[in-house]
Amino acid sequence: MEQKIIDHWINGSFKSSSSDRFGDVFNPATGEVISKLPMGNKKDLEEAVIAAEGAYASWSKTSITKRAQVMFKYKELLESHREELTELITLEHGKVLIDAAGSLQRGIEVVDFACGIPHLLKGEYSEQVGTGVDCYSIRQPIGICSGVTPFNFPAMVPMWMFPIAIVCGNSFILKPSEKDPSCSMKLAELMQQAGLPDGVLNVVHGDKEIVDAILEHPSIKTFSFVGSTPVAQYVHSKASDNGKRVQALGGAKNHAIVLADADIEQTANSIIGAAYGSAGERCMAISVVVAIDSVADSLKDKLLDKAKELKIGPGQNSENDMGPLITAEHKAKVMDYIQQGQDSGADLLLDGRQHPVTSQDKGFFLGPTLFDHVKSDMSIYLDEIFGPVLVMLRVKDFSEAMELANQHQFGNGVALFTSKGSAAREFVNSVQVGMVGINVAIPVPLSFYSFGGWKDSIYGASNIYGMDGVRFYTRTKTVTTRWPDIDEDQDINLAMPTVD
Ligand code: NAD
Repeated sequence: MEQKIIDHWINGSFKSSSSDRFGDVFNPATGEVISKLPMGNKKDLEEAVIAAEGAYASWSKTSITKRAQVMFKYKELLESHREELTELITLEHGKVLIDAAGSLQRGIEVVDFACGIPHLLKGEYSEQVGTGVDCYSIRQPIGICSGVTPFNFPAMVPMWMFPIAIVCGNSFILKPSEKDPSCSMKLAELMQQAGLPDGVLNVVHGDKEIVDAILEHPSIKTFSFVGSTPVAQYVHSKASDNGKRVQALGGAKNHAIVLADADIEQTANSIIGAAYGSAGERCMAISVVVAIDSVADSLKDKLLDKAKELKIGPGQNSENDMGPLITAEHKAKVMDYIQQGQDSGADLLLDGRQHPVTSQDKGFFLGPTLFDHVKSDMSIYLDEIFGPVLVMLRVKDFSEAMELANQHQFGNGVALFTSKGSAAREFVNSVQVGMVGINVAIPVPLSFYSFGGWKDSIYGASNIYGMDGVRFYTRTKTVTTRWPDIDEDQDINLAMPTVD
């Protein structure tokens, strides 16, 4: 059967690629190839840049209120297409529908935020900063912005970027993950229906080749990236070398620390959801539990019982808790980590490889895995596995637990489970991690805050979305004015001006 080809979206319509390289897009629940995706090249990107440049000239001059109206309409359209978008996420990513719907909602919330742009773009004004002198600042768009996004949130992560960039008056080129690109296409079509002029939002497909073309293109002024840490490091350095403003968010290994005074039942429920939701393919997944010795056994028993009860199967079936992994290669990589954990002497309490769903010949399924007595030098603790694998370490006290989180290479999210306010307060003040939950396992900030980790979970000075997003996608212009009377005396003065 002839495969469907997903074209680029350039200047408001589908455009076929000049590349002869194509990748496969799978339905991970069946393992079937459902479409082909062009691996775009420099020539394709040039078309997108020409469209974005042309559109920028008038979009950047469009009134702020008109830009906000487009966002209001967009929000309405996203809501009326909620079901279709959710199904698209599940079809290409595999996560269960309820999880896909939640991730879409978190993206729509960024559009809600973008609707407030008339207020958010207000500058500052100070009168009489010197005698007869006033000073004000305004935020102006930058030009063509770009975004490269990961597979695990095909709607939410693109929406962390383009709504804010666009409502600030920029045009945008999005390069979504080559593994699940269809959602981005629908998001772009809906922007057109919302009244966005053609060329303001463009979507190009591909892999390193087109990402490098974006990084090297002199007309593209900003580069936003979300993905794995090695690629984040690479794009941060290359974008900086090419003079672009860059924000690059990377990988994670999020710890849940459980103190002796935590409610163990509630804690176990939260950790199970955060560890195995989306099959562990979330940058804010809990992949490490650090338990104080005195509660470790009871927590372990509960985690094990609950993990065993999870139902695994196609995301379209509402009875399932967990869908497949994204590709066969990724499943093999996660299984290899389970083997490494076993070889290094960790206690393998639940082996996802033995789950019946893992050996079925359809789809990229892997059962949940739980390790206990994991040590801090094991690869299953150190590396981001990005699958349904939860590892548990035991420590003697709170400070040893916090030390583990602080020493880890990644610093994206962390959660503390406790009923003791003073411990929580000390934790919030001292932990070396960017997003902190107290009795909240997945502390993804709402759209009016901003998202970003610390250490090797982020490169560049800017978090994503919220006011950080507005600042990232605008340049500040500060104006000093003086209106002297025609006949006012003004002597020549070569000294650095000071105010009086
Ligand atoms: P990835 O790094 O493989 O790919 C991300 C994007 O970069 C894709 O669009 C891909 O086409 C492109 N890319 C891949 N290799 C490249 C290269 N060598 N040069 C240039 N571009 C390249 O990540 P993924 O597997 O799609 O997503 C999972 C990763 O993303 C995990 O590490 C996860 O923690 C991370 N992630 C982080 C956050 C966050 O906010 N910190 C959010 C979601 C996902």
